[in-house]
Amino acid sequence: MNTMDFRFNLVATDDYARAGLLQTPHGEIPTPIFMPVGTQATVKAASPRDLHDLGARIILANTYHLYLRPGDERIARLGGLHHFMGWDGPILTDSGGYQVFSLSQRREIDADGVTFRSHIDGSEHRFTPEKVIAIQQNLGADIIVCLDECAVPDDYEYNVEALARTHTWAKRCKAAKTRGDQALFGIVQGGVFPDLREQSAHFLTEVGFDGYAIGGLSVGETKEEMHGMLEVLDPLLPADQPRYLMGVGTPADLVECVARGVDMFDCVLPTRMARNDSALTRDPGPDPSRPGRINLRNARFADDPAPLEPGCTCYACAHFSRAYVRHLVKANEILGHHLLTLHNLHLMLTIAREIREAILEGRFQAYRETFWRRADE
Ligand SMILES: [Zn+2]
Repeated sequence: MNTMDFRFNLVATDDYARAGLLQTPHGEIPTPIFMPVGTQATVKAASPRDLHDLGARIILANTYHLYLRPGDERIARLGGLHHFMGWDGPILTDSGGYQVFSLSQRREIDADGVTFRSHIDGSEHRFTPEKVIAIQQNLGADIIVCLDECAVPDDYEYNVEALARTHTWAKRCKAAKTRGDQALFGIVQGGVFPDLREQSAHFLTEVGFDGYAIGGLSVGETKEEMHGMLEVLDPLLPADQPRYLMGVGTPADLVECVARGVDMFDCVLPTRMARNDSALTRDPGPDPSRPGRINLRNARFADDPAPLEPGCTCYACAHFSRAYVRHLVKANEILGHHLLTLHNLHLMLTIAREIREAILEGRFQAYRETFWRRADE
């Protein structure tokens, strides 16, 4: 590692599953880890105090959104992102690339960067590798990532072109970075094509980064395709550096992707589901592509005295019934979404912790089997 204050130690492995410790300027992160998403410098419906109580060790914030509003230079003037949002733990910022390609209007990509219009007011902006690094240096997260182009997963020609740009941009991002207290992750792309993923892993590890993000998955391809790409990448990515699977996933995804060598995850699922009146459950359900959940709007919970998930130790489950949470969401009371958010984040963070303990004790495969046995019950 060439970045100060940043170290990754692989503590134990169990087949392909890995348990590690990631040292950052704002604290140590045990891996595997789930990172709650704080898109606009807030994890929706949860305060930093809640996040600490839940045991969150790192959160993600979004470069595209914070650049547009309130502005990265303003955040720098106000003391940086940690101070601005009152979170003193580690933060990872994404590059904004994914949002430019999915949210913005009228984007035009060229070899040098991408020009786009804001989804908020239609104003025109341009991201280049250098600009995206400058924004992330202003924000001051512990881990920052390279600008990449996230192509549709199954278009080979497009993926070849997008990968060439992503690789050139990765080199430029590394050259543009000047802060010594931030780790920089490269992003492996290449859709669902093993040869392109392989090429990408070779290129990026040759350039050399502090860790490797895996992008362009969980964007419409099948689970089998996603797992296949992870199996291609596992032996190609350096064993002594962290691997971060972007935008994934469900409790079952955590189990299955850790089983294929992934260390870090982020996903809006738990917070978004909470705002859609749903509680995540451990039960992976009959369809492995969809997480277990209960929707509190369902009339069958109106008289249900049970907690959201029996056996859960979160604040919501320890104090309130399904009937009460259903009443709150029906009455549009903010507390309903807050309690569902606490439960859903607690579940993801707990599963990541359990997986880590299982790896440390050499019983990850047994844990994985027990996890799936629930689906058959
Ligand atoms: Zn709970």
